[in-house]
Amino acid sequence: MLFRTLAAVSALLAATPALAQEGASDRADIVAGARQFIKPTNAERTQVLVGFLTTLGLTPEIQVFQGGNNATGPMEGANVVVTVGQGDKDIVLTAHYDAVKLRDGTLSQGIVDNVGSVMAMMEAAKTLDMALEGQPVAHRFVFVFTDQEELGLLGAKAFLEKHGKDRIAAVINADVAAYGQTIMYGENNGEQSRFVLETLRTLCAERNFDCMPYPTYPPSDDRAFSAAGVPVVSMGTQDAVGAHQMWLAFNGGENSGLKEGFVPPVFQRIHSTDDKLSYLKGADVARFGLFIADLGLALDKRLVENQAKADAVAAETAPAPGGED
Ligand SMILES: [Zn+2]
Repeated sequence: MLFRTLAAVSALLAATPALAQEGASDRADIVAGARQFIKPTNAERTQVLVGFLTTLGLTPEIQVFQGGNNATGPMEGANVVVTVGQGDKDIVLTAHYDAVKLRDGTLSQGIVDNVGSVMAMMEAAKTLDMALEGQPVAHRFVFVFTDQEELGLLGAKAFLEKHGKDRIAAVINADVAAYGQTIMYGENNGEQSRFVLETLRTLCAERNFDCMPYPTYPPSDDRAFSAAGVPVVSMGTQDAVGAHQMWLAFNGGENSGLKEGFVPPVFQRIHSTDDKLSYLKGADVARFGLFIADLGLALDKRLVENQAKADAVAAETAPAPGGED
C-alpha cells in the first residue's frame, strides 16, 4: 500500500512538467481579451470589438440600424461586419456581442452569453484570413457580430433587411460558448439546412470532436435566418455533463430523469450577475474557433459539390440543342 502510494506520488511529480506545458497553451490572451468586453454599456462593447478586429489586421465595418423594442423604446444598434476572401456567394458567420441588461439596471458581463463565441469567431476569422492566402475558395466569409440579439434578434434581422438573402449560401451561428469541449448544435432549422448539418457531422467524425445534436435547441440569431429560408446551424459549447443536462432539459420530455424544477447550470449563469469571466476557458474557446474555421471551409467545399451536382442534373434534363423540329 505504501509502495503504491509512493509510486502514485512520483508519477504525479513526473507529470508536473507536462501539466505546466499545458498551462502555457491555455490561451491567457483570449481570457485577457474577453475581460475587455466587461463594460457598462453595449456601445462600449462595440468599440472594444472594433479595436480587436482592427488589431487583427481586418477591416471592420460598423452597420448602424434602428432597433430597440417595447421595453427599451427606440434604440440604435450596431452590427460589426468583417469580410474575408472573395466570391459571388457568402458563408455568413454570426455571434452576438451585446449583453443583456439585468433587473438592477446594470449590464451583464455577458461572457458565456456571448463573449466566448465572439472570441471564437475572431479566432476563426484570423485562421481563415491566413488560410485563404494559400488556398483560394469559392465563397466569401462574412463575419457578422450582431447587436441587440437579446432584444429579439434585432441585429440579425437588420442585417437581412439591409443585404437580403440572395448572396447567403449558408450561416453558422455561435451562442453560449465559453467553456467545454462538447459541441452542441440544433437540428431545428428546417429542411434547407440539412446539408449544413451533414457537413458538420462529417467534420465532427473526421476530427474526433464530441458533437451533440439537439432536436430542440434554444433560439438565437439563427432563427432570423431560418425564418427567411436560409440554410443555417446554431452551435454552442459546454462540458459534457452540462451538455447532456441541457439536452435532457430541452428534449427529454416528462421522463427526462432530471429532478423536478432542475435548471441546467448554464441557464442559471446566463442573464445573471453570475455570467462572468471566471467561467471562460481560453483553450476551449480557441479549439471551438478552429472548429468554426474548419466548418466554414468544409461548407465551401460542400456547396461547390452541390452546385456541380445541380449543374449535371440540369444538363441532363435540358432539351438537347437542336433536338426539336
Ligand atoms: Zn446569447
